[in-house]
Amino acid sequence: MPELPEVEVCRQGISPHIIDQTVSKVVIRNSKLRWPIPDDIKQLVGQVILGVDRRSKYLLIRFNSGTLLIHLGMSGTIRIIEHDTPVAKHDHFDLEINQQKVLRLNDPRRFGAVLWFDQHIDQQGLLEKLGPEPLSDDFYHGYLFSKAKSRKVPIKTFLMNNQVVVGVGNIYANEALFKAGILPTSLAGSISEIRFNRLTDIIKSVLSAAIEQGGTTLKDFTQADGRPGYFAQSLFVYGRAGQKCLTCETILEEVRQSNRSSVFCPNCQSE
Ligand SMILES: [Zn+2]
Repeated sequence: MPELPEVEVCRQGISPHIIDQTVSKVVIRNSKLRWPIPDDIKQLVGQVILGVDRRSKYLLIRFNSGTLLIHLGMSGTIRIIEHDTPVAKHDHFDLEINQQKVLRLNDPRRFGAVLWFDQHIDQQGLLEKLGPEPLSDDFYHGYLFSKAKSRKVPIKTFLMNNQVVVGVGNIYANEALFKAGILPTSLAGSISEIRFNRLTDIIKSVLSAAIEQGGTTLKDFTQADGRPGYFAQSLFVYGRAGQKCLTCETILEEVRQSNRSSVFCPNCQSE
């Protein structure tokens, strides 16, 4: 599943190809994504793309008349390709640019979304209740501690709550808690401010490293046969239950939390 770093790399990858360019055609091959693709996005023909932003895992393509929102769901990928590139299975949506290039969305599982908002998208519906961006100054020392006060929810569940902070998906929650030495089952409200501040720094560095690593695969966005990488991370715990801890060689253990896998080292991580 594309996580925040993959979506950010996608934003960086497509931006130079589409900003200041004019939409010359909109093609909806299959509107049945998570929500139906609205027909009124065909009005984008002739409009100029002013910018591409990201909020959480939503890509926001800005126009004078509003914002096109794209979410990659479980399996979505976006490529920038030549306009005459043959259509492949699961290519549901095209935004043709200057009659030359095409921004093409492929999404086999169709949990993604393409939606149109003609005003104030940042304060409404999908986006209004989101917590701060983890790489911004709004995610600062003291924030998690104050947000967690007396909360009896496990720290991993707390971190993965989009209303607390966005973009800390399962992989990054597992890895950050390992690096911070905190058990995923520890109660959020029982963790000290010092440990929370260290965890904040680690979340920022884990996500930044993933974005940096993904930046090296940017060329993939313009290859017709290339899949923008859900990059191979260097992972300490995620997906490694039953194997040896890379730090202390203790066997890593696994618990299920909110139906997601949490892998931890019983020696390196504590309450
Ligand atoms: Zn260990």
